[in-house]
Amino acid sequence: MKNIYLCPHCGANLNPSVKIVLVAIHRGRRGLILLSPMPGNYKFICDRSLADSMDVGDLVKFQCPVCSADLTAPRDKEFAELHLAASGRSPRRVQFSRRYGTHATFVISDGEIAAYGDDADEFPQKNFFGV
Ligand SMILES: [Zn+2]
Repeated sequence: MKNIYLCPHCGANLNPSVKIVLVAIHRGRRGLILLSPMPGNYKFICDRSLADSMDVGDLVKFQCPVCSADLTAPRDKEFAELHLAASGRSPRRVQFSRRYGTHATFVISDGEIAAYGDDADEFPQKNFFGV
């Protein structure tokens, strides 16, 4: 079943093909970044000059490529947030760490949180306050 990621602000489909397409902003550089639609897969493709400027631990800002809204999660600035629609399910929220090299993703639905990534354990507060 295909996961469809949506901008929480304008509702645009952010993975019209396979990869999720976002704008990444870091140290004044802007570029397109392609992310895997599989939660827990942290392989990404982005503009080389942008990738070269990122060091582990740096906070990266993500924007919607359609409406340019800041995708930082409203209740947790360490994370970016997208909406995830799949047929036969109610929409969920997906939050992933904005820190380069921090592998933590949370898929949040009504009363339920699924954690992905090696570093998800570092965010135990998600289990209590993330919803
Ligand atoms: Zn948007």
